[in-house]
Amino acid sequence: MISVIGAGKVGSSAAFSILGRRISDVVLIDIAENLAQGEALDMMQAAPAIEFDGKIKGTSNYGEMEGSELVIVTAGLARQPEMSRFDLAEKNAKIMKSIVKEVVKYAPDCKLMIVSNPVDIMTYVAFKESGFERNRVFGMGNILDTLRFRSYIATELGVSREDIRALVIGEHGDSMVPLVNYASVSGIPIASLLGKEQIEKIVNLTRTSGSDVIKLKGSTVYAPAAVIAIMADAVLRGRNRVMGISTYLQGEYGFSDIAIGVPCVLGKNGIEKILEFRLDFEANEAFKKSASTIQDVITKLKG
Ligand code: NAD
Repeated sequence: MISVIGAGKVGSSAAFSILGRRISDVVLIDIAENLAQGEALDMMQAAPAIEFDGKIKGTSNYGEMEGSELVIVTAGLARQPEMSRFDLAEKNAKIMKSIVKEVVKYAPDCKLMIVSNPVDIMTYVAFKESGFERNRVFGMGNILDTLRFRSYIATELGVSREDIRALVIGEHGDSMVPLVNYASVSGIPIASLLGKEQIEKIVNLTRTSGSDVIKLKGSTVYAPAAVIAIMADAVLRGRNRVMGISTYLQGEYGFSDIAIGVPCVLGKNGIEKILEFRLDFEANEAFKKSASTIQDVITKLKG
């Protein structure tokens, strides 16, 4: 069973994507009276159309997450124009801590996927607050950045998105690191097919992709929901998928006591393995900068 905490735009769409892929029964939890119940009822009525025979329940009762294999936290505020990145971190950290207490109480053996932003900071907070082993707490961010990176490469080359292999690491935010020199189309490095300006355009589009959507419609929904379902599938079905995931580092890539996106194997136990490899000079410098952006916020939060 999967519990999704936060039945807002991302949480409810993620739940529906999980049902659509027939990954698992879902419990949807929100503090807003009736919201999760209403979303669940709506989804149940769609169940025959999506050929889903399992259970979907909406509730305000955290106790209903008991027995969950995976808990996904999408609860929290989205950034308002007047809010700084730190204001958002401070407010959502409070919400995250209160939710993690409930998770520890009712689903002590679960894997815990964090979606609420700023996701690297929230993953760090959830890891510390839960006391879980680090493989069980991870954040969704870079895989979404990677999907966007792949889409823009495919568009520029005029080829199928399916044939693009690529990775984004670092902060899920402005300092993210799209790994240009490791991206390929069916094994051919993109750097040998595209010019410098085209690559710069792709990298910039990838970096602003989230805010480009937010400027137009207020929030991002379908892409994060689809990505959450991919990660849920990897865990519930033990698929050992390789993707950029925010995880707590203990010396990997030269950093400790920080949660940041790095390539990982995602399976039954959550993070089965962190894949560490030598980054080229440019990527390594960008990764270090990205890590220091996250570290600054963690230090401020601790203060
Ligand atoms: P939303 O406002 O539509 O939904 C948030 C929901 O959380 C609301 O329904 C609210 O009632 C609920 N909530 C608040 N406190 C709660 C608590 N203590 N327990 C249970 N529910 C609670 O927002 P959204 O658009 O769904 O976004 C949710 C979060 O996901 C935001 O922080 C957003 O920035 C983040 N997000 C992350 C990514 C990513 O790539 N990691 C992508 C998109 C959105």
